[in-house]
Amino acid sequence: MSSDEIKLAYYKKLKEFGYEYATMSASAEVKSQDLPTGIKELRAQVLKCHLCQLAKARIKVVFGEGSEKATVMFIGEGPGRDEDESGRPFVGAAGQLLTKMIEDEKSLGLPRASVYIANIVKCRPPNNRVPEDDEINACVPFLYKQIEIIKPKIIVALGGVAASTLLKQSVAITKIRGSWLKFGEIDLLPTYHPSYLLRNPSAKKDAWADMLAIRARLLNEN
Ligand code: URA
Repeated sequence: MSSDEIKLAYYKKLKEFGYEYATMSASAEVKSQDLPTGIKELRAQVLKCHLCQLAKARIKVVFGEGSEKATVMFIGEGPGRDEDESGRPFVGAAGQLLTKMIEDEKSLGLPRASVYIANIVKCRPPNNRVPEDDEINACVPFLYKQIEIIKPKIIVALGGVAASTLLKQSVAITKIRGSWLKFGEIDLLPTYHPSYLLRNPSAKKDAWADMLAIRARLLNEN
């Protein structure tokens, strides 16, 4: 039996005993102002999180990683299998493409370790399904705190779920990619999710153009 199967069997047993994962109630929501203001302390709290049903089947919480002084922060949707197993964001096939988008000299041209990478939800949705609203609502205060601590100059929303969550409205990524928007005071650039790019390689030129637009903006600021 794999560790996932053992976990699922265990949760099935608990369910038989009458235990259930509650949906989020307003009182259970974490408030950003109540969260630790240091990244290490925040990470420690997030690693213990059981606020939504994604905690049930996860192997590891994927908190996010990168430089605490990052000027650019990339935000994806949620961990996949490789990330769930390793506890690190964007390490699978999509992650390799993201690393290329960040590091390629003809693209953003920065070391991956100099940016910050996180996700809208920090635990893997089963079978890589799209995270549900209550899961996003439970998790996103942690991300907002990370943004508050890191204070990036530019946020890159990877795909529709990240863009819609950060913009607090449902948006079509094909319509808004490449437009400079705002998350509070911070510049926000939505672009295609690397998984989408793997399925639609012809869209890579747009994503590369978006990375070059970020590069130009960073150059103009310095
Ligand atoms: N897809 C995401 O949105 N995030 C990851 O960390 C990996 C794949």
